[in-house]
Amino acid sequence: MAVKKAAESFSKALAEEVQRWGSMKQNGVSLRYMMEFGARPDQNNLLISAQFLHKELPIRIARRAIELESLPFGLSEKPAVLKVRDWYLDSFRDLRSFPEIKDTNDELAFTQMIKMIKVRHNNVVPAMALGVQQLKRDLKLKVMPTELQEIHQFLDRFYMSRIGIRMLIGQHVALHDPDPEPGCVGQINTRLSPMQVAQAASEDARCICSREYGSAPEVNIYGDPNFTFPYVPSHLHLMVFELVKNSLRAVQECFMNSDKNAPPVRIIVADGIEDVTIKISDEGGGIPRSGLPKIFTYLYSTAKNPLEENDEGSSDGVIMAGYGYGLPISRLYARYFGGDLQMISMEGYGTDAYLHLSRLGDSQEPLP
Ligand code: ATP
Ligand code: MG
Repeated sequence: MAVKKAAESFSKALAEEVQRWGSMKQNGVSLRYMMEFGARPDQNNLLISAQFLHKELPIRIARRAIELESLPFGLSEKPAVLKVRDWYLDSFRDLRSFPEIKDTNDELAFTQMIKMIKVRHNNVVPAMALGVQQLKRDLKLKVMPTELQEIHQFLDRFYMSRIGIRMLIGQHVALHDPDPEPGCVGQINTRLSPMQVAQAASEDARCICSREYGSAPEVNIYGDPNFTFPYVPSHLHLMVFELVKNSLRAVQECFMNSDKNAPPVRIIVADGIEDVTIKISDEGGGIPRSGLPKIFTYLYSTAKNPLEENDEGSSDGVIMAGYGYGLPISRLYARYFGGDLQMISMEGYGTDAYLHLSRLGDSQEPLP
């Protein structure tokens, strides 16, 4: 009884602390700021960075924990969502119980801790996908998809915030690398070749396509091979990978049973003053106009749902399609640094994806 009471008052205190931190103002940074700040990381810089994160991360994490508890349609009560909420609370507690960071030793211990937090949250996306999937099943026909708008908006905020938190932690950790690649500032490559990334991402997507269908259409890339700009390689890779994967699938499905050769997917990289734009074009039959409003939602996919096949929802293997997350998540990554993603379709012919990346790097992180 006494134990239970103690636990109750403990969780009440935690809930109050989460509320208090969740209502504080979040502070965004820009790509340019991260680049300038991390250009010559010394112990003093790292100390300042750790002190900033010690204050900033609990604010961002508390906000998400609060939102996770008040989702519509009972989504908050789904076991997978409760698990995610517990990860957020655990990380909040870890951060808040870490004492003031005064010297390099503290800084190193703090860095270890946030590294661990990042690992704890590795599976947030599939866990949330599972929760949403369970909800979708429960609600079958009871609610029209438009009423789920609130959930889409929540997921957009939630995943955008996650991208930011992981970028900040990843950047701080990466600044400790004693021997960084030339031109790299933490996770940012100041001389990133979009053609090279497009090449690598296309190869990865073609591999998965071959595994799934036995063959993969060609991908041709056009642009200036010497052009570079500052960006985070892993983000760009993920976006191009998702878009090429979609195109390959569309082309395969279109041409699988025809005697015509599958037309190649074409990628064009354009370097403008404001934006670097990457267009991914396919002749995979396009998307009907009525389907277009749905493609950026988290519940929409025309592929068979992989979560339904094995109920664990933990198949680690990368798959061709099925979660319906590729496009909305890619758009968030683009928007995180001030870019955007647009899809233009010609039904009966093919689809063009326009991936705009801001070159200036001045835009502040969106802070939902
Ligand atoms: P995953 O989460 O594995 O990417 P997915 O590919 O179904 O699953 P999205 O990438 O978000 O999810 O795409 C959503 C839907 O949009 C697809 O299921 C498909 O119906 C349609 N789509 C996307 N890109 C194309 C394309 N290039 N041509 C035709 N349809 C497309
Ligand atoms: Mg996809």
